[in-house]
Amino acid sequence: MRISDIIRKIEELKKTRRAVVLAHNYQIPEVQDVADHVGDSLELAIKAMECEADIIVFAGVSFMAEMAAVLNPDKVVLHPEPDARCPLADFLPPSVVREYRMKYPRAPIVLYVNSLLESKLYADYVVTSAAACRLISKLEDEIVIFGPDKNLANYVEETTGKEIITMPPYGHCPVHEYALSIYYVNKALELYENENPVLIVHPEVPRDVRKIAHHVGSTSQMLKIIEKIDKNSTVLIGTEEGLTYRARRLYPNRKIVPVNPQAVCIDMKKISLLSVLRSLERLKYRIQIDPDKVRRAREIIEISIELMRK
Ligand code: SF4
Repeated sequence: MRISDIIRKIEELKKTRRAVVLAHNYQIPEVQDVADHVGDSLELAIKAMECEADIIVFAGVSFMAEMAAVLNPDKVVLHPEPDARCPLADFLPPSVVREYRMKYPRAPIVLYVNSLLESKLYADYVVTSAAACRLISKLEDEIVIFGPDKNLANYVEETTGKEIITMPPYGHCPVHEYALSIYYVNKALELYENENPVLIVHPEVPRDVRKIAHHVGSTSQMLKIIEKIDKNSTVLIGTEEGLTYRARRLYPNRKIVPVNPQAVCIDMKKISLLSVLRSLERLKYRIQIDPDKVRRAREIIEISIELMRK
């Protein structure tokens, strides 16, 4: 089928089925283009709650589609590729969370949203990368357990001054850990050294990269930071390459380049236009979560939001 026919059919089905497509910032350009909203996991979860649609097609990895389903129990949430998982989330099975709970019974457990739903159910709080420092600095406890990303844990520790027990000590996103290592960052800085490069990175990058970055933030924060950067500077995007497409759409007159064009999340890229179309045609694959788990997950999210409001 031609790409233009796929797009036409997706648009028709969105209308007849009262559906919206939500796409994460790391999706391929064509999927971002057919999406009704593009953003990070938190922005998309909020959009999912605000929209009037009956069906949500979530173009992202599985934990994101699960979060949308938890927050929208009355809507049908479809995940076009159930195999699109987050390897970072897989570092932390629920059994490990339980172990840490037993070992450190007095320390609160804060989980990064990039974690399995089953693991979240044992946490005290759930945060996005944008909210991690804010929430942890509001806790009265001086020792906090955080997982599964060791680089984000280190960033939180340095920013808040609290002692962070990283759970597990080795969890990482392979894209940020390896394809955005200091080697690739130095290479990019060298390549653009005559263009006053400004390096903005996601906190999932290794510490040595974070230390030389001009700005650190979640994908939504990175997009906002660009506005404040000198117009004559070349902006180097230190996260998964998909964000560069989104940034260029938002700032068409700026020079924005990925630190490493090969910083690709294979799982995010498993979703194609064709899989979005199949999802809408066949209403697959529906995220179905046990109501007790939905209740518990919502409770943790509400407690987390409440704490951040204080
Ligand atoms: S980029 Fe990394 S953290 Fe994000 S979904 Fe892919 S593997 Fe997970």
